[in-house]
Amino acid sequence: MDSEYNKTFTKCPHCGSEERFFEELGKEAVANGTVGPDFHLAYIATNGVVQDKQKSLYPGDKPVGFAFETDICTGCGAIYATKVKRAEVEVRMTPAGLVKPNFYTPGNDGMNRMQRRHPTLN
Ligand SMILES: [Zn+2]
Repeated sequence: MDSEYNKTFTKCPHCGSEERFFEELGKEAVANGTVGPDFHLAYIATNGVVQDKQKSLYPGDKPVGFAFETDICTGCGAIYATKVKRAEVEVRMTPAGLVKPNFYTPGNDGMNRMQRRHPTLN
């Protein structure tokens, strides 16, 4: 696949209508002033990277990334992709201040494995 893959689909692939439900709702919200002028609404808008849960990613790794949006055709009700993009992503170092806190949850006494084995080490 082209590493610059980035497509916008402006017509419903089933009936050819160019009117989309969530896009129209977004335009109405802009028109009545309840959202900012650059607001854009889609049914589902998401992005991510292709990742194997069995393999860790490290700073400098470049996993394959993606982003897409979908909407609902007002003509026939079909849900289809309106934007599909392949993204370039690079894993970066996590700033030390953003380390996840060790929240207490049932079954988690707040200690790590080393602290449980050697409770005097703190
Ligand atoms: Zn349609």
